[in-house]
Amino acid sequence: MLNIVLFGPPGSGKGTQSEKIIDKFGLTHFSTGDMLRAELAAETELGLKARSIMEKGELVSDEIIIGMIRNKISGEAEAKGFIFDGFPRTVAQAEALDVLLEELGMKIDVMLGLEVERQELIERLLKRGQDQGRADDNLETIENRIKVYEDQTSPVMGYYDTQGKYRGVNGLGSIDEIYERLTGIIGAL
Ligand code: ADP
Repeated sequence: MLNIVLFGPPGSGKGTQSEKIIDKFGLTHFSTGDMLRAELAAETELGLKARSIMEKGELVSDEIIIGMIRNKISGEAEAKGFIFDGFPRTVAQAEALDVLLEELGMKIDVMLGLEVERQELIERLLKRGQDQGRADDNLETIENRIKVYEDQTSPVMGYYDTQGKYRGVNGLGSIDEIYERLTGIIGAL
């Protein structure tokens, strides 16, 4: 099994790279952002609760997120491995993921962190807002998402670094160049 956390600030390219990596290695993709948007589109109770939080760029509660992951992962006993994208986003989520994986006899092998500077993130997200119309890709929410990342999410890097699992990757360049950097590390594991 190969279990990867793909990490980085909003707009660093996690979703784009995840899609390419799952194709190559046959992994199952777990994007908590995509899961939440699906709940929102289906107008479930969870989706309705999450909507205003996501529109402000704040984090949905750890309890909801962990419950969602627990539900999905239990139906994936046959998976070759997982790529977690946009999760864990707090140290509490990282701790809960370790507990959950241990129960299942699994573990995280590596955290790949896409490193991109703030101004580039803002430009990419504004462009995505224009192209795809995602409700949280407007300047005010983007700035808050980056702040929330710095305050609440960046400590997750230290959590995996302490376990010797963090690998930083330059997130600037073409999609293919960045993909080569990531798959180079994964292939050498
Ligand atoms: P991005 O990485 O571009 O910010 P995502 O699609 O990963 O976008 O997440 C969109 C929003 O969904 C976040 O701003 C947050 O409100 C919510 N969200 C996604 N994943 C999590 C998570 N693991 N914990 C808490 N909130 C989350």
